[in-house]
Amino acid sequence: MAKLKPETQLVHLGRNPIYTQKGVNPVIQRTSSVIFNTLEEKQHAIHNRSNSVLFYGRRGTQTHFAFQEAMTELECGAGTTLYPSGAAAINNAILSFITSGDHILVTGSAYDPTQNFCDKILSKFNIETDYFDPLIGAGIADLIRPNTRIIFLEAPSSITMEIHDLPTIVQAIRQKAPDIIIMIDNTWAAGVLLKPLLLGIDISIQSATKYINGHSDAMLGVAIANKRCIETLRENSYLLGQTADPDTVYMAGRGLHTLATRLKQHESNGLAVAYWLEQRPEVEQVFHPALPSCPGHQFFIRDFSGSNGLFSFQLKSRLSKDQFENFLNHLTQFKMGYSWGGYESLILGYQKEDLLSMRQYDYQPNDGTFFRIHVGLEHPQDLIDDLTLAFERIQ
Ligand SMILES: *Cc1c(COP(=O)(O)O)cnc(C)c1O
Repeated sequence: MAKLKPETQLVHLGRNPIYTQKGVNPVIQRTSSVIFNTLEEKQHAIHNRSNSVLFYGRRGTQTHFAFQEAMTELECGAGTTLYPSGAAAINNAILSFITSGDHILVTGSAYDPTQNFCDKILSKFNIETDYFDPLIGAGIADLIRPNTRIIFLEAPSSITMEIHDLPTIVQAIRQKAPDIIIMIDNTWAAGVLLKPLLLGIDISIQSATKYINGHSDAMLGVAIANKRCIETLRENSYLLGQTADPDTVYMAGRGLHTLATRLKQHESNGLAVAYWLEQRPEVEQVFHPALPSCPGHQFFIRDFSGSNGLFSFQLKSRLSKDQFENFLNHLTQFKMGYSWGGYESLILGYQKEDLLSMRQYDYQPNDGTFFRIHVGLEHPQDLIDDLTLAFERIQ
């Protein structure tokens, strides 16, 4: 189905008749034990357990297989592993490929818990992490050591939104050390707006909690690997006991069918709010990948097929404690909350010191108060009106 347009592909994904059993959607199969009628059947299951053949609940059921096949096709991979959260997907994918004494390179702008996993967990097992500037480009090669095993990317960066020059980074790594496993946190693109495996990246990881599920009511992680990595990823994740429950997996698969349409509306609403913010006298800079003011915008234009509702903006001045509270506490559409990718708008505010505590590279922000927003599916005018009142409250 590779030639179909994304909207059409997403309507069909995960609906193999083997799993839908004459219905429109795949069945929800809840089971731990799988019953084998003959010894031969059991042997067959053992040999094909990583090949969509029922073996044991922890290896997945028909519901899991349907969603895994959908994600593999969406991200142009060789196979998909599932995890109870996006954080579990990231951490287990990393654990699947490292040994004590290894070194890993992680973008200094990675999702905060990814950095914490490296600093607080990997460090206990004699695995050293170095961080790099997301705009490093070919300079990544200079940081590679003989024991560097994984390079972990994320595009755009969490919160600060820089966009890597992915083809240049991948080429520089491959020229110097072809065996390094390159992973990317592809949550922002939702597997639709960027196809990392087609750029030579080995493993694309997502929090399906965000746009894929899309309704802020489930936690799920996915990792899609290419041919050279899938067996190691699958076997190690299994040994680490990773699994996801079939009801959640079903919901994520359901979310895929409306993903393209939702993303387009998030994109259009997001751009409407971003263009409006650019004109506000209080705003210093809008960090939206589709706007030239976003660092790495030229790479976004080249490598991504579109944007969504998640971006950031910075004010010219630092808000006082009272102003900060007045801005955030009385919004009626933008709710304060972690996560994003649901139908609703969200906002988080950061002062300079908050940003500095999350960046592990030479990041030098201005003093202006910073906001990360997720623009939901409300009418953009209502969102603009909400922010207009917030700006009036800080005059
Ligand atoms: C939310 C998020 C995660 C973690 O996903 P959970 O499902 O919340 O564990 C990882 N990476 C990025 C970029 C995220 O936004």
